[in-house]
Amino acid sequence: MGPDPSLLSLNTATVRAQWKLDAIIAGCERHGIRGIAPWRDQIAELGLRETQRRIRDAGLTVTGLCRGGFFTARGRPGLAAAIEENRRAVEEAAELSAQCLVLVVGGLPDGSRDIADARALVEEGIAAILQDARDAAVPLAIEPLHPMYAADRACINTLAQANALCERLGEGVGIAVDVYHVWWDPGLARSIAATPARRLLGFHICDWLSPTTDLLTDRGMMGDGVIDIRGIRGLMERAGYRGFHEVEIFSANNWWKRDPDEVLRTCKARHVEAC
Ligand code: ZN
Repeated sequence: MGPDPSLLSLNTATVRAQWKLDAIIAGCERHGIRGIAPWRDQIAELGLRETQRRIRDAGLTVTGLCRGGFFTARGRPGLAAAIEENRRAVEEAAELSAQCLVLVVGGLPDGSRDIADARALVEEGIAAILQDARDAAVPLAIEPLHPMYAADRACINTLAQANALCERLGEGVGIAVDVYHVWWDPGLARSIAATPARRLLGFHICDWLSPTTDLLTDRGMMGDGVIDIRGIRGLMERAGYRGFHEVEIFSANNWWKRDPDEVLRTCKARHVEAC
């Protein structure tokens, strides 16, 4: 069965090359897309108050704020600064009534070969902001990233790993499941089934093109690649997930070069056909 079309959300990265945030918000409204996940740099450009006003006037649900994390970027000496930055991200997420703050946790510090220590830093960083997040009613969504990003973006790479971290950290932290990052995982079905519904904070969709020409900016439109998106949605729903389906496509050579209205029309059509 196809998805509920009203559950489509737009991660603003999908059309960020063509439109600024105000135009993206207007585009969502025009195309009847009900959810939006904006990026902090775009919000800074438009202004937090103005963003808040426009999103509210357009009647959009903020399905996630992108993004917090990067606790490891400057190693242990930089952890305090990273924690401060994440506190600001939590405040912004609260101002926008975001359903979660997405955490791309960070990879290896410069010059390090100690991935275990990087993972410890991540845990310390999340623990440090967790009370602020709970007080602000902003769930923290750890996004496990494909292992090809373990060095430079996120050393949390599987759902099982994210679940173990959530267990240790307790209430207020959950997981964003992005099909691009987890589709290959032989333990995926088991891991999703083992995740409590309250911990499933987001579901990000796009497709894995084969071959992939760029590890960051060659994501595919749903239906153009090899991911069984509908199958993964089924796993999410059986685990109790009822939230939005957030389309998030970084595509330097294809979708970022197209008419953004065409991109949104295609997202809507493919959501129904392929997700
Ligand atoms: Zn994602």
